[in-house]
Amino acid sequence: KAKEAGRNTSRFFCDALHAKASRQLQLENLLRKALEKNEFSLHYQPQYRMSCRNDVDRSGLMHECISNQMIGCEALLRWNNAELGNVSPAEFIPIAEATGMIESIGEWVIREVCTQVRQWQDAGVEPFRVAINLSPRQLFNPNFEVMVYRMLRESKLDPCWLEMEVTENILMLDIREATEKLNQLRNMGVKISVDDFGTGYSSLSYLKKLPIDSLKIDRSFVQDLERCPDSTAIVQAIISMAKQLKLSVIAEGVETEEQATFLAGNGCTDLQGYFFNRPLSAKAFTAYLMSSAEHQQDCCPSDILGF
Ligand code: C2E
Ligand code: MG
Ligand code: MG
Ligand code: MG
Repeated sequence: KAKEAGRNTSRFFCDALHAKASRQLQLENLLRKALEKNEFSLHYQPQYRMSCRNDVDRSGLMHECISNQMIGCEALLRWNNAELGNVSPAEFIPIAEATGMIESIGEWVIREVCTQVRQWQDAGVEPFRVAINLSPRQLFNPNFEVMVYRMLRESKLDPCWLEMEVTENILMLDIREATEKLNQLRNMGVKISVDDFGTGYSSLSYLKKLPIDSLKIDRSFVQDLERCPDSTAIVQAIISMAKQLKLSVIAEGVETEEQATFLAGNGCTDLQGYFFNRPLSAKAFTAYLMSSAEHQQDCCPSDILGF
């Protein structure tokens, strides 16, 4: 009996491993053709800056209200395949990274963002920054900054509208090389932010020396804010550290009004998350830009936050 159970268990693991490996292989094969088949697209998730202002309501009471202004957005890659449907970047990016395909895919992302930003600016939209996620292989590619420079020039974009997000772990892979690469990008005028901050292994002493502009508080801390005192402490520590190091700070994964209020009240006024907007298709995001330009006002669920 026991022997049989053991056999069943190993059979189970074997099947599970097999299923996983064959899915990986399938993804890998389909991913190889995804660029030429035009299966990628970008979604854009807006980022907002909260600002406090005083308001007097009908009964004459002063309220500290918050209004949001869109300050930028993050470009997020989407893959839609005929056979597989939508595949999450959490699943296909690691495969693209492991196989080296991320270099050509990443190049596509940068070109697409530059083209899109040029179109928005040509349409008269008030310029704002767009953030791109970088994988280690892209950053460490010797031709990377030349490629970025070329794309910016081709689309006649001021580099200050481009931001590159890297994780702490990328930075720690090879701190000297990463510093050099980031310096080249920054000298060009591109902004650098550290994504998923707090989840990696960066050392605080390095953080001070790295050529970075901002920290992006990981959404795991933001999401635990209401439940977990540790997360509250971590978030407050990250915010005050960013201020000390003269870095800007933004929180991602903001889903509730309470989280937004807590963050803004504690000095992190730049926010991104489902509470404001999901990542939007290029078309939907463009429509959103046009309608907020038309109304000449700040966007989104403004004036609903109050301390
Ligand atoms: P990330 O850079 O940390 O991006 C934030 C992720 O959180 C996105 O998932 C976004 O859709 C999601 N998100 C935004 N607001 C909320 C929220 O309020 N609640 C929750 N639960 N989630 C929220 P997505 O688009 O699935 O991307 C996952 C990861 O894939 C990204 O994490 C990034 O590391 C990677 N990725 C996406 N696009 C690219 C790309 O073009 N190149 C590279 N190298 N990596 C990318
Ligand atoms: Mg990111
Ligand atoms: Mg992140
Ligand atoms: Mg991430």
